[in-house]
Amino acid sequence: MFLLKPQVVATGNGATSHFNKERVYRGTWLNRPLAAASLLLCSPLMLTNVLAALVSRQSIVHQRHCVDSAGRKVSYQDFSCGYLKTSARLFAIARGDISFCGLPLAQNSTREFCLQLANRYQMPAGFFDAVSLHQRTGLAVSSPKKLLLNQAQGGSKAFIKLLIKGLLCSVLYGTARDFSQPKALRLFGIRINNVTMTDAVEQIMAPREGGCRIGYFINAHSVNVSARNADFRALLNQSEMNFADGSGLRIAAQSVGYRLADNVNGTDLFPHLCQAMSRSGKRLFLYGAAPGVADAMAANIQAQYPHLTIAGTAHGFLGSDEQGALVTRINQANTDILLVAMGSPRQEQWLQQHKAELNCQSALAVGGLFDFFSGNIARAPLWMRELGMEWVWRLLQEPKTKFTRYVIGNPVFLFRTFVLKAVSRGA
Ligand code: UDP
Repeated sequence: MFLLKPQVVATGNGATSHFNKERVYRGTWLNRPLAAASLLLCSPLMLTNVLAALVSRQSIVHQRHCVDSAGRKVSYQDFSCGYLKTSARLFAIARGDISFCGLPLAQNSTREFCLQLANRYQMPAGFFDAVSLHQRTGLAVSSPKKLLLNQAQGGSKAFIKLLIKGLLCSVLYGTARDFSQPKALRLFGIRINNVTMTDAVEQIMAPREGGCRIGYFINAHSVNVSARNADFRALLNQSEMNFADGSGLRIAAQSVGYRLADNVNGTDLFPHLCQAMSRSGKRLFLYGAAPGVADAMAANIQAQYPHLTIAGTAHGFLGSDEQGALVTRINQANTDILLVAMGSPRQEQWLQQHKAELNCQSALAVGGLFDFFSGNIARAPLWMRELGMEWVWRLLQEPKTKFTRYVIGNPVFLFRTFVLKAVSRGA
């Protein structure tokens, strides 16, 4: 157990650094008042938990011991039975043994760096941290060190924001459990490649073997469409890559005991893909969206990635008699990666229909991606994405076109998840 008092802590390389008032992790003063207020609020529930333990002759609390990411021993308690067993952790926070927000509790590869943060900012271990928050919602973590450093340097306001986001995440996605993380899994009859963002980019960029590789982003909407349309489900299962896109799939996977590696959605993946393509000189073709949108996007990304080659663009409202010429143009432009943005299921059906004629390495169905990168539609703020609530933003921006998909589609999807869980438990 360690205390949150200023102290001198040895760093990994043997050096020591002294407590520096200006650099202290500023939110920790909130721990005691917030824990005391929460204890008061939770006291009826805690009393019930104590009584339940006494009646069932169990110990009132379970002691938990762990080592945080800086290698320090940390202890806290959970109630043995009853509701909200984790509320007993408030005692450890009130005692100053651990913080609401701080360094991650699990050990990981950033130990040396975390130890430096612990020294420099007097940063304690915490139940919530920026890296775990991103991992819980599946936001790809490209630099855990940067996230933790930002957290350490944030003030009391940032501390409260992280606490609220952490609590909301626990409500939305449950507390962290030991889920299995298979490389491939099947959800609602659809095969999912359970990969990280980095793996996904590698798969898309891998040299062509045989035909053009097709990639789809599977989200709650795809599941709802495929539940009504068996042909569409079969089509999704014929692709080479199916990435898990969005918080809906994450909730569904967790309900049957699986953890998804990352939230591999097109919008987050695209900048990584542009970087990889710029490095390797691959050529990108953009097909889809309203006239002018793909061109605006091409101009934007060309300015951002000067070494990226745009092989061509075409809008997504061409007639059926123009499709042959379009495929010829895509092939003649020596396209390596093709993005098709015409909304689901139109884009998947187009790819299925033209797969055999396409000479490119990989082709992805990317939905509304062009509208984001052309600047037509703004991306949701980070805090919304951190909570896996980007869909709320899209609904606010396009209430008419997205009403059915989200306001009706999301509860329907949750019901399907409930059925999936019940069936898997029965099995
Ligand atoms: N779109 C298109 N051709 C069509 C119908 C739609 O190119 O015949 C475009 C539309 O302009 C928009 C995208 O497809 O840019 C649809 O995006 P949506 O937001 O529906 O996709 P999601 O990401 O939600 O699947």
